Amino acid sequence: MNDGASENLFDILATGFPIDRASPAFLLPDGAAVSYGALEIAASKVATCLVSEGVAPGDRVALQAEKSWQGIAVYLGTLKAGAVFLPLNAAYTEAEIAYFLGDAEPALFIRDPDGFVADCADLAPLAPSVPRGADDLAAIIYTSGTTGRSKGAMLSHGNLASNARALVDIWGYSSDDVLLHALPIFHVHGLFISLHCTMLKGCPMIWLAKYDDAEVLAGLARATVMMGVPTFYTRLLAQPGFTKAVADGIRLFVCGSAPLLPSTFDEFEVRTGQRILERYGMSEAAVITSNPLKGERLAGSVGYPLPGVELRIGDGQETGVIEIKGPSVFSGYWRMPEKTAQEFTADGFFKTGDVGRRDPDGRVWISGRAKDLIISGGYNVYPKEVELVLDELPGVVESAVVGAPHADFGEAVVAVVIAKDRTEAELIAACREELAPYKTPKRVVFVDDLPRNAMGKVQKNLLRDRVAGLFV
Ligand code: AMP
Repeated sequence: MNDGASENLFDILATGFPIDRASPAFLLPDGAAVSYGALEIAASKVATCLVSEGVAPGDRVALQAEKSWQGIAVYLGTLKAGAVFLPLNAAYTEAEIAYFLGDAEPALFIRDPDGFVADCADLAPLAPSVPRGADDLAAIIYTSGTTGRSKGAMLSHGNLASNARALVDIWGYSSDDVLLHALPIFHVHGLFISLHCTMLKGCPMIWLAKYDDAEVLAGLARATVMMGVPTFYTRLLAQPGFTKAVADGIRLFVCGSAPLLPSTFDEFEVRTGQRILERYGMSEAAVITSNPLKGERLAGSVGYPLPGVELRIGDGQETGVIEIKGPSVFSGYWRMPEKTAQEFTADGFFKTGDVGRRDPDGRVWISGRAKDLIISGGYNVYPKEVELVLDELPGVVESAVVGAPHADFGEAVVAVVIAKDRTEAELIAACREELAPYKTPKRVVFVDDLPRNAMGKVQKNLLRDRVAGLFV
């Protein structure tokens, strides 16, 4: 789109801010609120500061901090100044940070956004925004890649704006919505997906520093939309206080960033009468598919591609790597032209690395990451297929299936399981009734918890390390 309107994402978001700028953007747990006007002015003063510090269009501004609304002012101010925002996980160690700073070479690294915003208070707000085109970089998101060097996905103003507009549309966002925001803001889910939809409609956000049972329960009474990762939903369901009455005011529960277990989906529906809307996305493309707002939401399916997204299964296979093309798909990995070239097909599709299949009507099902595929005795084993069988067994709470090096088979299937009162032999025998021998776990390892990253993804690399010595 270019009808003469600014393509700077800051300006696009600001077109959605409420006319009455005194309306709240952030509702804080202590009862205070930060208005859209205050946010806009704070961001515009940050932009002035960046420009006067010599931060040029395209320069990176890195932020590592605990979640605060001032972090969002820094993000928006960075966009307004034409610079590129680089959010870093608050939990990264100094050694990890050193890698990102060395790779991205930011002009500025901010660790105290609250102080930074306060220090800008006496400056004049920047106006107008530094002009940016749709293809200019808005942000670099380092992927939570679990193997190899972390890669910086380069997202443009146009990538992010197109995704936000599509989501507002398909999720039926209106200015009457109130979002419960408990996600971190160093990741696409909390930073772009949740925030942009809400700002495009000028709605308030109940702004929680993190997921907290009591605060989320209290927030639900005032919200209309909640966006979360699967662990938010399992934790909610573990709360006796999470009742149908509490959920009744919410018109939309969205889940993404990691697979939602069908058992969670079902239990949620039994408890609340509502079906969680699961969607699928990644740092490289924001949201790619979504279950429908009005049509059927199915457990275990991530729904249909967003408008404008072309999605196909690689090599024309029935089940294979999902490839995508569309307005939200990133342009490449920061300073990794060769890696970028490997990850795109000759006709411009991005190879997501997720394995999945499509129904004839286009509905998408994901069966896991390609790199998690186990090859045992020459046969392909998709961990998800084994996990689904295990998860249905009485006493099994959750499972994660990985491969372990094996002298005969190359790799052998190992199940890491959270279960009550079950033995290894019983679970193996039960799997054997439903799965071919090569898919049946050779060993079952019991654990109290599965290791997860900040977005609730099971860290299979850690499990692989843990079981690597079982057969060799
Ligand atoms: P990230 O870039 O950290 O957001 O991770 C993206 C990855 O998370 C995707 O490539 C998928 O493997 C996974 N993912 C996100 N949403 C879903 C979902 N709804 N179901 C299954 N996997 C998902």
